[in-house]
Amino acid sequence: MQSRACGFASQQHKCTSPNSATSFRSGSTRNPNGFSFRLPHFSGGVRASNAPISSQIKDIDVAASNRTRVLGGERQKSAAKERTKAGTRRNNSGRKKKRREKETAVTGQFGRGYWRLFNVEIPFEMDPGKDDFSLHESLMDAIALALCCRASRLPRNAFTLVRKSLDARKEPKFVYTVDIDVKSFMESESDASNILSVLKPVPGKYEFSASPRAPLDIIARLENTGAVCCDAEEFDKSSLSENLSKSPSDDFSSSTGRMERKDRRAKVVVVGSGPAGLFAALTLVETGVEVTLLERGQPVEVRGRHIGALVGRKILDPNSNLCYGEGGAGTWSDGKLTTRIGKNSSSVQTVLATLVRFGAPQHILVDGKPHIGTDKLVRILQNLRHYLESHGAKILFGTKMEDLEIKAGRVTGVRVSKTDISAAYEVLEADAVVLGVGHSARDVYETLMSHSVALTAKPFAVGFRIEHPQELINELQYHKFANEVQRGKGRLPVADYKLASDGSSLEVEENDVNDGRSRGCFSFCMCPGGQVVLTSTNPSELCINGMSFSRRSSKWANAALVVSVDPSDFSTFGHRDGPLAGVAFQKAIEQEAARRGGGNFVVPVQTVTDFLDDRLTEGALPTSSYRLGVRAASLHDLLPSDLTISLKNALLNFERQLPGFIDKRALLHGVETRTSAPVRIERDEESFESVSLPGLYPIGEGAGYAGGIVSAAVDGMLVGLALSKTYRNKILLHEVLLET
Ligand SMILES: Cc1cc2nc3c(=O)[nH]c(=O)nc-3n(C[C@H](O)[C@H](O)[C@H](O)COP(=O)(O)OP(=O)(O)OC[C@H]3O[C@@H](n4cnc5c(N)ncnc54)[C@H](O)[C@@H]3O)c2cc1C
Repeated sequence: MQSRACGFASQQHKCTSPNSATSFRSGSTRNPNGFSFRLPHFSGGVRASNAPISSQIKDIDVAASNRTRVLGGERQKSAAKERTKAGTRRNNSGRKKKRREKETAVTGQFGRGYWRLFNVEIPFEMDPGKDDFSLHESLMDAIALALCCRASRLPRNAFTLVRKSLDARKEPKFVYTVDIDVKSFMESESDASNILSVLKPVPGKYEFSASPRAPLDIIARLENTGAVCCDAEEFDKSSLSENLSKSPSDDFSSSTGRMERKDRRAKVVVVGSGPAGLFAALTLVETGVEVTLLERGQPVEVRGRHIGALVGRKILDPNSNLCYGEGGAGTWSDGKLTTRIGKNSSSVQTVLATLVRFGAPQHILVDGKPHIGTDKLVRILQNLRHYLESHGAKILFGTKMEDLEIKAGRVTGVRVSKTDISAAYEVLEADAVVLGVGHSARDVYETLMSHSVALTAKPFAVGFRIEHPQELINELQYHKFANEVQRGKGRLPVADYKLASDGSSLEVEENDVNDGRSRGCFSFCMCPGGQVVLTSTNPSELCINGMSFSRRSSKWANAALVVSVDPSDFSTFGHRDGPLAGVAFQKAIEQEAARRGGGNFVVPVQTVTDFLDDRLTEGALPTSSYRLGVRAASLHDLLPSDLTISLKNALLNFERQLPGFIDKRALLHGVETRTSAPVRIERDEESFESVSLPGLYPIGEGAGYAGGIVSAAVDGMLVGLALSKTYRNKILLHEVLLET
């Protein structure tokens, strides 16, 4: 890391008054040594200067006082008149008054709040690296440069790191977003108002907010939405007092005995302990609702052994595997916490803050591409389980929902079986059933169909998993800096990519005419330093995905390479119409992949170059991270031809975007079919209740409302919040038959 003096010395910038001849130009400017920043309100840019450092620093101070003069404007003129009248006498109270005036220039306009500075860029060589999330010296120097002052004038307690991302285009650089707490700044630095006066609000560059943007935790959200959160003891007290105040006429008799109304808490059964189910359960538990969480799979400790048996001895437990078990499909995953729903949204921030509360590393709150890794996810899930149980939730592992209990057109509970005991059923009553079973629980879709629950076939994506040597991806992304990765231990993150194409290209063979549709093709769920894993839940169907550990230190980089499909594709592929046509389509592809692999979970593979040339060359295959065995097979004719053409076009486009992507060491693995649910369980937009079956609340990926760990967790939390509002302090009247 560069020393602070060196960092500052290398600036070669000169801050001057906006009125002066050498004024700033707007937009981002980079000096020869790499720092760049934006000063939107000035009409000029940062000028490189060869002047000695000492004079540059002096210039900065001069510029600061110039700003005061400019900002002071009329106020200063009248002050000067006053001075002429009263002579040049300056006393303490005059100085204080002047300081107050300066403060008002900043605080009067904006109040005591927070400035957010975006796009503070530090070249890779001057940054301590990917694992450092501190306000390090290079960063403070760059902020000082943006504020035209010395770094020594910036009190660190007034600054908060909001985001750190790597921009790997051209030369890698880290890009920061930083908040300044005006009040703390004012309290610690006498010239704060003068320094801050350089900032003018420009959306996306410099933004001012009157209040802090700290993430709200679930309890705060419950309070905000009016779903009062009270602990169980408090709840019982309120319930008791209401009970005591009830008039005797509330009790009534029946012919068989005396019936009495008793109060009880709302009961909710949550099915599935994936991110959606867990966040729904957590939100409900915080409200005082009685929660039973059902999971067909096993707790992570046992699940880990079952996954070990799958990888080591090819034994697949149909209820405890890479898709089923505590934490859902996201547990043995890469643990990427990126999401398309916007990482700055308060819901996403709440989910991330909750993960931190249960043991995720703090930096996921600021990392531009947060990722946890399987090893750490396991501990977080254990902490969450203990919390839920200690707050009254009942968690039933190895317990599968077999059916819904429905009375008078409303869900009244679920029928469950223990996965280790055949034919033993039990009914669990509930006021509401939250269904978060993920996209692999095809049996649940069938159950819903049998009750005429409104389901709709929806688009998803299918394709392959492509794997390259990680070193190659590092080279393609970082060029001469590639060796800075050091298998996850270096200063640059293990390189990833995100590529997309509309799948149309003129470079296909003449006879490869596709259906003329423009299909989105994209890389998806990229796992740098990861491995390809089996996500089948049934031995006759083969499908794969990717995972990694927190360090991302494996020799391989894998990602899904997929093409969008919609219901019109399912029927052309010979599948019956109806909501489950997409499931049938997935199954057919998975069964074909299992056949081409030769069984026993062996995955069919083909080099990218062979796939593009429609051939299968003899000879040694590139190595693969997949541990259950691979076998050379043709993948170029596994999918319907127009999907294959789109994928080929996409590969050619990807090669243009990332030259070197098509490489003889790149290996396609078949097949990636469960990118998202092929079905949507229709629900009301506001209440989240099924549009056709009251009392049923479909959530998460399996219901068609999420596509990853974070979005599933957000969906579960929002449904939990909605239900919490419904049950807010509501004591449900419960009829109890008293024996007489
Ligand atoms: C290998 C792999 C890697 C992935 N990597 C990432 C990643 O890095 N980042 C990311 O954002 N996303 C990733 N995903 C996707 C992500 O895991 C899912 O989007 C997310 O887990 C969906 O959450 P969910 O709660 O909706 O469903 P799920 O996580 O699928 O959870 C559903 C749960 O319901 C249980 N269940 C099903 N049927 C029943 C029943 N009848 N009775 C009781 N319980 C039942 C299942 O056992 C399961 O535990 C990955 C997925 C896989 C498979």
